Amino acid sequence: MNETAAHRVRAEIDLAALRANVRSLRAHAPDAAFMAVVKADAYGHGMVPCARAALEAGATWVGTATPEEALALRAAGVEGRLMCWLWTPGGPWREGVEADLDMSVSGMWALTEVTAAAREAGRTARVQLKADTGLGRNGCTPADWPELVAAALRAEAEGLVRVTGLWSHFACADEPGHPSIAAQLTVFREMVAYAEGQGVRPEVRHIANSPGTLTLPETHFDLVRPGIAMYGISPSPEVGTPADFGLRPVMTLSASLALVKHVPAGLGVSYGHHYVTSGETTLGLVPAGYGDGIPRHASGTGPVLVAGKWRTVAGRVAMDQFVVDLGGDEPPAGAEAVLFGPGDRGEPTAEDWARAAGTIAYEIVTRVGSRVPRVFVNERTQPGEM
Ligand SMILES: *Cc1c(COP(=O)(O)O)cnc(C)c1O
Repeated sequence: MNETAAHRVRAEIDLAALRANVRSLRAHAPDAAFMAVVKADAYGHGMVPCARAALEAGATWVGTATPEEALALRAAGVEGRLMCWLWTPGGPWREGVEADLDMSVSGMWALTEVTAAAREAGRTARVQLKADTGLGRNGCTPADWPELVAAALRAEAEGLVRVTGLWSHFACADEPGHPSIAAQLTVFREMVAYAEGQGVRPEVRHIANSPGTLTLPETHFDLVRPGIAMYGISPSPEVGTPADFGLRPVMTLSASLALVKHVPAGLGVSYGHHYVTSGETTLGLVPAGYGDGIPRHASGTGPVLVAGKWRTVAGRVAMDQFVVDLGGDEPPAGAEAVLFGPGDRGEPTAEDWARAAGTIAYEIVTRVGSRVPRVFVNERTQPGEM
């Protein structure tokens, strides 16, 4: 029995797969810099090891949502450019200036706070102005853009900020041909042209997420920002599988059966008795539940590979455990139950769980909880790995 098999439940993270995914994505956007998006603990995969692996494979930027995430990367010794984009008033701007973060600014309040922090720190803050080109979420609207650009240029003239980037984010890049894609690109080009016309000299202009990187070369500009594809999951399952895009899933979630037992027909299984055995059978107890991020919405539907066969969650997913009907098979306690992985050992994928739970694979991997140890494999780049 290997060392990982002793775990109740574990998420094995294949860093060689992550590095290969980064190289594959870079080949789709050979002229653009690569920002590895590692927000939300690298979509559940473990932020620091994933950031390091991506940098090893050629990423030169790392992106997070929150400043706390970016500061944690710096504290862990991650070098290179670190950008974060989800700020709230009173955020750690001073720490961000001192850690050399590239800090996104979507409105006047943020520019005011970052400028004040730069003055206090006695250093120039790196700022990237975010345009809302049609996502309708964060970002500065076209109407407010002239005021923000003017204020940023004044702060730049005082030496308080350096505008390192102009950027935006897509609403529907995962739906090829969606009219909003071309519309957003037009608005982005106009907002960039306006800022540059006023004297902004950004190092990077960027808008492409995973689907943009994989399917829309006209969106690559100076830098691409893939997240989900780096973890080997297709951003558009209708358009292509991971393999179609040259990607391989990085996470394998598995557990050791806690109990296998013979039961009679007519036995109600798990809370609410929503599953009742139809005949004599064996049940396997999988020691993972919604406390580990297994979606309760997958009650009665989630697929699990046990002893060479796909089984289905029998009855409800509880906080710490769920049951599968083994149909009379008798694997021993401790036998491996694979919830999802790359799929090449016959196991389900995160996409299968997304379908079973009525969500997207992004959520399936990201919600894997802190109670689940991440076991990193292939941490070192092997000679000849390229
Ligand atoms: C999450 C995120 C990304 C990455 O998106 P994917 O669809 O996972 O590639 C890129 N940019 C921003 C601003 C994001 O929030």
